[in-house]
Amino acid sequence: MLDYDLHCHSSVSDGLLAPSDLVARAAGRGVKSLALTDHDDVAGLAEAAAAARQHGIQLINGVEISVSWRGHTVHIVGLRIDPSCAQLLEGLRSVRSSRGARAQLMAESLAKTGIGGVLEGAYRHASNPDIIGRTHFARYLVEAGYARDVRSVFDKYLVKGKPGYVPHQWAALPDAVGWIRSCGGIAVVAHPGRYIAGSGRMGKNNLRELLSEFAALGGRGIEVVSGTHTPEQYVEFARYAGEFGLLASCGSDFHGPGESYRDLGCLPDFPPGCRPVWEAWEAAEELE
Ligand code: AMP
Ligand code: MN
Ligand code: MN
Ligand code: MN
Repeated sequence: MLDYDLHCHSSVSDGLLAPSDLVARAAGRGVKSLALTDHDDVAGLAEAAAAARQHGIQLINGVEISVSWRGHTVHIVGLRIDPSCAQLLEGLRSVRSSRGARAQLMAESLAKTGIGGVLEGAYRHASNPDIIGRTHFARYLVEAGYARDVRSVFDKYLVKGKPGYVPHQWAALPDAVGWIRSCGGIAVVAHPGRYIAGSGRMGKNNLRELLSEFAALGGRGIEVVSGTHTPEQYVEFARYAGEFGLLASCGSDFHGPGESYRDLGCLPDFPPGCRPVWEAWEAAEELE
């Protein structure tokens, strides 16, 4: 088992737990090194760091940036970012700024199919209205009885080709990687398995090109072990890591009790041959 968990969400984005409760849960479940990676926002990191000090675990400052690449939505995690860095903050602000208008369009599209009142409902589930997103819509639609759980709401309403999905332009890949690097962070491709599955998926050749472009931009890592990957995918993405010279990262992508594929702190080891992403900072720390 790995005692690192380098991808999870608090109520600052679309997680259910406040940053301090998330850290307490991680510590209680044996995580020694936790990265909080809220979508497009770093507002939870100070609270998480204070809680981590209390619980005696390491908190890694992280973020998960929404990116559009060749018409596909891709997520780039930044690890060891400096949350006070102006360039990063300005970039994240620009990504967040379009979420409100997008939510409005999603609600209008759902209203056309006879599902009303969704915008107000979704905002009631968003503790940080700046990050209003599909998960908040999903929680409202479950509450209103349109589906039995968050996962089936996505399949029925919120993925490409369904009534609540609207195409959206997120950050450009070079920008997202650039913001992370500008503040000393390490850029990691999040959950690659998600891009080659489901409706509107990209082909494996496209994924290869994404990884090659990402590495050329100075991206350093790829999530090999993700809460959303199968064991076969751990092996597949370990191979891609080797092929593109990327370090291996791991994260549950935990959003809340009962809602995620995996809870915090139960990630299996990497397949043999992986170089873990923490090599990038632990080697430097030993020299200090
Ligand atoms: P957004 O940034 O508003 O597009 O929302 C993306 C978030 O929706 C992801 O970070 C997940 O938390 C959630 N999500 C996306 N696809 C699914 C799915 N198929 N099932 C459950 N949650 C999903
Ligand atoms: Mn999410
Ligand atoms: Mn993601
Ligand atoms: Mn995530």
